[in-house]
Amino acid sequence: MKRDYYDVLGVGRDADQGAIKKAFRRVARECHPDVNPGDPDCEAQFKEAAEAYEVLRSPETRSAYDHYGFDGLRGQQVPDFGQFGFNDLFNVFFGNGTFDSVLRDAGGGMWGASGGGAPAPRGEDIDVPVTLTLSEAVFGAKKSIEVTSDVTCATCSGSGARPGTGRDTCPQCHGSGRMREVSSLGGFGQFIRTSTCNLCRGQGTIVNDPCETCRGTGRVRETRTVDVELLAGIAHGQTQIVRGAGGAAAQGGRPGDLRVAVAVEPDEHFVRDGDDLIYRLDVTMVEAALGTTAYVPALDGDIEVTLKPGTQPGEVKVHRNRGVPVLQGYGRGDLKVVVNVQVPRHLSSEQREVLEQFAALTSETNYEPDQSFLDKVRAVFRQ
Ligand SMILES: [Zn+2]
Ligand SMILES: [Zn+2]
Repeated sequence: MKRDYYDVLGVGRDADQGAIKKAFRRVARECHPDVNPGDPDCEAQFKEAAEAYEVLRSPETRSAYDHYGFDGLRGQQVPDFGQFGFNDLFNVFFGNGTFDSVLRDAGGGMWGASGGGAPAPRGEDIDVPVTLTLSEAVFGAKKSIEVTSDVTCATCSGSGARPGTGRDTCPQCHGSGRMREVSSLGGFGQFIRTSTCNLCRGQGTIVNDPCETCRGTGRVRETRTVDVELLAGIAHGQTQIVRGAGGAAAQGGRPGDLRVAVAVEPDEHFVRDGDDLIYRLDVTMVEAALGTTAYVPALDGDIEVTLKPGTQPGEVKVHRNRGVPVLQGYGRGDLKVVVNVQVPRHLSSEQREVLEQFAALTSETNYEPDQSFLDKVRAVFRQ
C-alpha cells in the first residue's frame, strides 16, 4: 500500500513549492547514505520521498494526484526509483558532489533524457476494440479509431528542450552516457567499474531549459484518430497489430503498437466456419418435392440455387470460392447452402384433406433414402 505523498513529505495539501522542496531536502538529509550507511529502511524512505517530490513538484502531476489520487497518475510519467541505487539517486537529485550542493532541478535530467547512448524504452502499446459486421470482416474494412496516447510534443518536436534552446551535454558523463568509477583496493591496486550514466540515463544529453508544453518529456497526451485497414478475412477474437501506431516513446525510442481487438457481430443469414460461410436456405415442403429456383443473398451478390424435384432436408449445395478470403493468403473458402425444408403447420380442414389424399397416393418408392442425414451434416463442416 503506497503512502499518501503529502504524508511522506510531512507537508499539508496546501504546501507551496518551496515548502515541498524543503520537506524533501529534510528527508534526504535524514536519509543520507553517509549518515546511514547500508540502512535499507532509510533507502526505501528516501525513494518514497523522491517519488513524492517528483509528483508534487510538477503542477500537472500534483493536480492529477490531488483530484484522483494514485489513479490519476496512470499514464503520467512517474519515475520508478526502485531501479536506482541509493547513491545514484542522490547524485540524480543533488549532483555528483557533496550533499550540500545546490538542489538541481531534476526535471529534464531525470525524465527527458534522450539522444545517443543506451536504447530508449519503447512507447506504450495501446489496445482498442473494434466491432465489425460479417461483411466487413470478410471483405476488409477501413475504420477510424480514436486512440489516446503519448504523442511527440509539437512545441519542441520531441526534444524536451524549450524551443530555441537545445539539449546540453550531460555534465556528469560529459556526453559519453557512461560513468567510470574507480575504487581503490588499498594496497592492491584499483577496481574500475563502468555503468550507464544515471543523470542522463545513458543518453549523453540533458535538458536544462525544459519545454513548457511537455515539461521536458518530449511527449504529450493526446487523443487522435488512426485509420486502420482491417484485413479481409479477419475473424472474431483476432487482434490486428498496427506497428508503431501506439504511444510515442521518449526521444530515440521506437513508438509502441496499436493492437486492434476484433469482434464480429452475429449475422442474420450466415454462420462462419473458418473460411467457409454456411447459409440456411428455407424452402417449403412443396418446393422441395417439386423443385425450385431460389436466391441466396451472398455477401458479394446474389447466387441462384436450383433445387431439383425431390430435394431432401439437409442437402448441401457448395459454391466454391464464395466464402471468406484466406487471411493474408490466397483464395477464398466456400459458401455452403444447406436446405431446410419447412413443414406446414396449422392446416385447414381442406388442406388436411388434400394431404390425406396425397398420402393415399404415395408408395415406398416416393420415400427411398439416398444419402444418410448424418452424411449430409458432415458435408457441411470440413473434416
Ligand atoms: Zn515539448
Ligand atoms: Zn550523463
